[in-house]
Amino acid sequence: MKKLAINLCIATASLTAITACQSNSKTETNEMPTKPTNITDYANYPTYDGEDLGVVVRANGCDFKLWSPMADSVALNIYENGAGGEVLSRHYLVADNSNGTWATSLKGNYLGKFYTFQIMIDGKWLDETPGVWAKAVGVNGLRAAIIDFKQTNPQDWENDKGPALAHNTDAVIYEMHHRDFSVHSNSGITNKGKFIAMLENGTLSLNGEKTGIDHLKELGITHVHILPSYDYNSVDETQLPSNKYNWGYDPVNYNVPEGSYSTNPVCPIARIREMKMMIQALHNAGIGVIMDVVYNHTAITHGGNFELTAPGYYYRQREDGSFSDASGCGNETASDRLQMRNFMINSIKYWMNEYHIDGFRFDLMAIHDIETMNAIAEAANAINPDVIIYGEGWTAGDSPLPVERRALKEHVNKMPQVAVFSDDIRDAVKGHYSNAADPGFASGKPGNEETVKFGIVGATAHPQIDFTKCNNSKFGYANHPVQVVNYVSCHDDLCLTDKLAKSMPGSTIEERIAVAKLAQTIVFTSQGIPFMFTGEEVFRNKKGVHNSYCSPDSINAIDWNQKKQYRELFDYYKGIINLRKLHPAFRMTTAEDVAKNIVFDEVTEPNLISYSIKNNANGDTWNEIKVILNGAKKANEVEIPAGEWIVVVKDGKVNEAGLEKSQGGKLTITPRSALILAK
Ligand code: CA
Repeated sequence: MKKLAINLCIATASLTAITACQSNSKTETNEMPTKPTNITDYANYPTYDGEDLGVVVRANGCDFKLWSPMADSVALNIYENGAGGEVLSRHYLVADNSNGTWATSLKGNYLGKFYTFQIMIDGKWLDETPGVWAKAVGVNGLRAAIIDFKQTNPQDWENDKGPALAHNTDAVIYEMHHRDFSVHSNSGITNKGKFIAMLENGTLSLNGEKTGIDHLKELGITHVHILPSYDYNSVDETQLPSNKYNWGYDPVNYNVPEGSYSTNPVCPIARIREMKMMIQALHNAGIGVIMDVVYNHTAITHGGNFELTAPGYYYRQREDGSFSDASGCGNETASDRLQMRNFMINSIKYWMNEYHIDGFRFDLMAIHDIETMNAIAEAANAINPDVIIYGEGWTAGDSPLPVERRALKEHVNKMPQVAVFSDDIRDAVKGHYSNAADPGFASGKPGNEETVKFGIVGATAHPQIDFTKCNNSKFGYANHPVQVVNYVSCHDDLCLTDKLAKSMPGSTIEERIAVAKLAQTIVFTSQGIPFMFTGEEVFRNKKGVHNSYCSPDSINAIDWNQKKQYRELFDYYKGIINLRKLHPAFRMTTAEDVAKNIVFDEVTEPNLISYSIKNNANGDTWNEIKVILNGAKKANEVEIPAGEWIVVVKDGKVNEAGLEKSQGGKLTITPRSALILAK
């Protein structure tokens, strides 16, 4: 695998050198034009929805275009390299007052060269920027690159396609960071922390368990959700041997892959080609790729690409003119302004068309407005009706965007093709996210039963839920279960292993494993879209660090030797995923079906829930499924109607074909476990 990567980079590097030699190095200059217009109100700026912003390479030249209606003048600088060196040539762009763009065309072969834009405001040239529509960049994303995109396509790319997804509820989502997943010394993977780690088949942990893509296939997930993989700011791509880690929620170039995940960030083709190779490898394994997108803020405000191309426009401001900060990261973008909305829609379309991305997870989605999210969902569904779109239905601070316009989870009923994370089920099952010591339903705290039931019905308006007793949301916000993502942990906050350790003082590891199994059984048998955090199937921990966004590998890397150590837990995860995939009763698509087919039993014991999924729900082969969840520290007894049942989950074991038979009657459910029967 290593050899392949090196060959690729040599090939692309020499190609770049060859094309660079052929390019036109003659210096061209135009007269500097005058300011096109004088507009001060953001809502009145002309906008441009074309997909040719940045550079378009033609047979005998290049067309450059930048949207900047407020600029006095716009210049283009051509460079030999992605960093350093003198300007080869400088050119002035011509304004089109009708749409706020500036354009110029250069004759000759510029493949292999780099460029920046520069705008003049009030007689002063701002710093150089690759613009907001760079599709290829040099190291650290400082300059845009002029490349032949055909060279970024792996073999057979034109036939690459993600898996079909009839309904969102058929997905089993696995949230993964490139580095966490492959970087540990015992992963058996050569290209550690790289996109192309996914191309390595047959890799094993030091103690002989499958790792890498073979591990994903063995587990049975349907989609990986990759943490931010666009070009972000926090890892210096010129210093990769220092092994800096970051989650990547600090966007720089939205439409280019991150360089540190490539084998050669200096080579603009490498990061694009290698990300496509990763996507192709996952698709060939039948696994879809969902990308985490962070359009809600940028790493840098002043000096960032938005401010250097259209100052003020792309961000929201407070009444005093200062930048508002609903992201908690120093700024928030303005999806309610048309050119920002266009940018987001076109960016999503671009990732789908060029990279074959199968879905998107929107960070702090409620910073965006409902209208924008609906427009994105519509455009994405027009490209691929199987696309899956979900997001965090909240903000990290207040916003000038009126509450009624925000894409909040409580407003998901106004966004029919969008889903939201259920923090309701998350906190009810495992305890409050920010109070480490707080346990939940699965770890023995009474009082969360109604909120767990809220999760079981996929946040829909089920007649047996008393919403006044729910901890968080007081109504079922999802129109249908396809609009809610159920989970107990993700990259944020304590991972499940650490949360259980901190909220179950004095417990044994066996007790915590039992609770982990119960918690994930709730996720994978509930209506909605199940979602899990990488490595929890091998009882991965983060040494108690909850905000590990820039923690070293020693905190974030998954120790794959744990797969053997916790093989029984892994097998349980695999079994419960298999149970869900084989039984559409757990994957209903409409609220009507959920209301009709799910019947809760009257239960008075705390930390005990019992319900049936009836009527061969959603075309299931099983007529009735009985699910009993016992979060108590003690065994409980339940009365099951007489019948010819098979027991598929019991006492921390799962087998879809049946662990044993039961005639019903009074059954005992062991502490901290699930009991599932079917007939
Ligand atoms: Ca970067």
